[in-house]
Amino acid sequence: MAPVIKKCFDFLVIGGGSGGIASARRAAEYGARVGLVESGRLGGTCVNVGCVPKKVMFNAAAHAELLHDHKDYGFNVEVKGFDWGVIKKRRDDYVSRLNNIYATNLDKSKVDVIRGHATLTDDRSVEVNGVRYSGDHILITTGGYPIVPKLPGAELGITSDGFFELEDLPKKSVVVGAGYIAVELAGILQTLGSDVSLLIRYDKVLRAFDSLVSTSVTGELENIGVQVKRQTQTNSVTKQPDGRLMVETTTGAISDVDCIIWAIGRVPNADFGLRNIGVELDTRGHIKVDEFQNTTAERIYALGDVCGKALLTPVAIAAGRKLAMRIFDKQVGAKLDYNLIPTVIFSHPPVGTIGISEEEAVKEHGADAVKVYKSTFLPLYHAVTDRKVKVSMKLVCVGLQEKVVGLHMIGQGCDEILQGFAVAMKMGATKRDFDETVAIHPTSSEELVTMR
Ligand SMILES: Cc1cc2nc3c(=O)[nH]c(=O)nc-3n(C[C@H](O)[C@H](O)[C@H](O)COP(=O)(O)OP(=O)(O)OC[C@H]3O[C@@H](n4cnc5c(N)ncnc54)[C@H](O)[C@@H]3O)c2cc1C
Repeated sequence: MAPVIKKCFDFLVIGGGSGGIASARRAAEYGARVGLVESGRLGGTCVNVGCVPKKVMFNAAAHAELLHDHKDYGFNVEVKGFDWGVIKKRRDDYVSRLNNIYATNLDKSKVDVIRGHATLTDDRSVEVNGVRYSGDHILITTGGYPIVPKLPGAELGITSDGFFELEDLPKKSVVVGAGYIAVELAGILQTLGSDVSLLIRYDKVLRAFDSLVSTSVTGELENIGVQVKRQTQTNSVTKQPDGRLMVETTTGAISDVDCIIWAIGRVPNADFGLRNIGVELDTRGHIKVDEFQNTTAERIYALGDVCGKALLTPVAIAAGRKLAMRIFDKQVGAKLDYNLIPTVIFSHPPVGTIGISEEEAVKEHGADAVKVYKSTFLPLYHAVTDRKVKVSMKLVCVGLQEKVVGLHMIGQGCDEILQGFAVAMKMGATKRDFDETVAIHPTSSEELVTMR
């Protein structure tokens, strides 16, 4: 006898993270009967082990940086140390509050939350804890998880997930990886007082970004004291008799390490019966989708990190909402435009970047069609401080109109500056539009409208 389906939904969402919750609630707003399956804590990666707790720790590190400048601004402040436990508790409490807020909001939106791990069965139903559910439309937003390398002693290390469980600031840390998560965690730890080595395979971090970003961030990591070990790969990790770790690398050993963090990439959560129902994966295990988030199986969709494109919370949210509009509000052409997605790296100082790099622009349009405007300067904030951190900005323009196709910057405030410029670029702004905009003085962002 065929198994009994407990409940049929119009829209059944697997994964209660950024994309899943946004899509589920929007579909419910349009009157769909929605079920959402979540195996862990509501809010997914972003809320629990990603953007939110990371930004809290970035803010803690920003305090540590500003402390250096207090005396230059006339404040006689005696700092008696830093208590990691205080900020961890406040951060964890905030995340718990967010978990509850998500549950309440889903409830208010009349989304049925089903707790447990979903698997897809051959007959297209979704099984959770032995109970079957069906959906006219099924959305997969199961995200991903961090990679642990296969090398001796790798299990002695932690990942970004484990970083958020640390009960104390490690005295000596090793971070392995050159992507934005490695850069952010290394920066936070070093700024808060850990002695950090960052192991990278090549000569710079963030190599997929514009050279201004990769060069400046690598330099700034060293400025704040991170030991960037270039052309270095980890061979093994062992425990010393005193409980600390010994990390053997291709360029030497690092002893007395309290914590090693693997930040070498993430893999999609796509191993729960997708192939049984005709959902194809690419060679890296991501779900293949078209521009409307359709998978290769009819009425099954996927979006967010599990698809491997622009792994960012607002991308998953926007794609999820557009999908709900298309299916349940008859907005036939609704889809997310993946061009010109702004992004920030919460390094010290932060990076803001959107569009293509200078190198990509030259490749796509030819060197003659590309004009680059660049500026590096000391922001007014540091005019009176002994600590000096520069700002660097670059505009990449193409064609006779000098359409701005890339904007890359690093410096204090760049995280907050970017959003408005992203709107301008999305509207097709040219260098002339930038020039015609009156500057705001004295700010760092005025440089972007006064470059020559
Ligand atoms: C350390 C770190 C920092 C980050 N910082 C930023 C940042 O500053 N800005 C930014 O925009 N992005 C940031 N991100 C990326 C961001 O968190 C992700 O892009 C975003 O969470 C993706 O959303 P999603 O809906 O695709 O997946 P997720 O939010 O990961 O949600 C997937 C959910 O599916 C659940 N799930 C998986 N499999 C199943 C199953 N079989 N059954 C039931 N449930 C399942 C999981 O438990 C999870 O809750 C960061 C990520 C990390 C790791």
